[in-house]
Amino acid sequence: MLQQTTVAAVIPYFERFLARFPTLTELAAGEESDVLRLWEGLGYYSRARNLHAAARQIVAECDGQFPRDLDELHRLPGIGRYTAGAIASFAFNAPAPIVEANTQRLYARLLGDDRELKGTATQRTLWEFAALLVGAPSHGRSPSTMEDFGPGAVNQALMDLGATVCTPTAPNCPACPVVRWCAASAAHRQHEIPRLAARPVLTDLEDATVAIVDGPRYLLRRRPTGERWAGLWDFPRYTIPEGQGLSAVVTAGVLQQTGLQISLGPQVAEFKHGVTRYRITLRCFRGRWN
Ligand code: SF4
Repeated sequence: MLQQTTVAAVIPYFERFLARFPTLTELAAGEESDVLRLWEGLGYYSRARNLHAAARQIVAECDGQFPRDLDELHRLPGIGRYTAGAIASFAFNAPAPIVEANTQRLYARLLGDDRELKGTATQRTLWEFAALLVGAPSHGRSPSTMEDFGPGAVNQALMDLGATVCTPTAPNCPACPVVRWCAASAAHRQHEIPRLAARPVLTDLEDATVAIVDGPRYLLRRRPTGERWAGLWDFPRYTIPEGQGLSAVVTAGVLQQTGLQISLGPQVAEFKHGVTRYRITLRCFRGRWN
């Protein structure tokens, strides 16, 4: 839930989720639509689908026991290298490395690595460094002070250090507990490292949605697999191709999907929001069927 989302926003969702699904077995037995409903408003719905699918896989293949092994964790839906390392080290104190937004910046600066941060070779170096710090089996002993605390605490401390001291634009080197080992700071290059790739160009999209009202009832459509926000309920919504009339696209879309002939009424709202590399203007209309 915390991926790309603040703690404050997550807390009420987390509490409702645990109240409804207090155990892995109950989550596995739940319907995907229930899981998605509890997630509604948090965004990034693939997280909810993957969580549910992972619970089902653990019940089916691991007798309901959460795997501890990095490779087994990695085989679960939605669990990539970072999440596998975070679960293994935080939950089971296993010597598993993690590299995420805060630690990759911290490690690149400590190493003075000025290659493009997301490059394959850079990432390989950062993961190897992270493995060394926690004493991963393939990398021998970790530095002795690290061993005193255990991999879970070390990983969390390094993430906090990146988040609070070695920040993206204002690294506080004089207050940093690892300044004596930092190559970027020694070379006064902490503001140049890490090197980031240019941001992707955003594409503008115009979407239109229509609320078709029949007394107290609204026409809703469940978004099918393959569409963005698959599985969620939504008003009929369409992206308007450039050069095509909004009204024609919406009425033809509703007719094709529901068999209903509608007329578009007045626009009632307009929102701007971003999804991945798209900058979307959503225009909302009232409508009625004929
Ligand atoms: S010394 Fe400065 S650049 Fe180096 S890790 Fe600490 S805060 Fe970051």
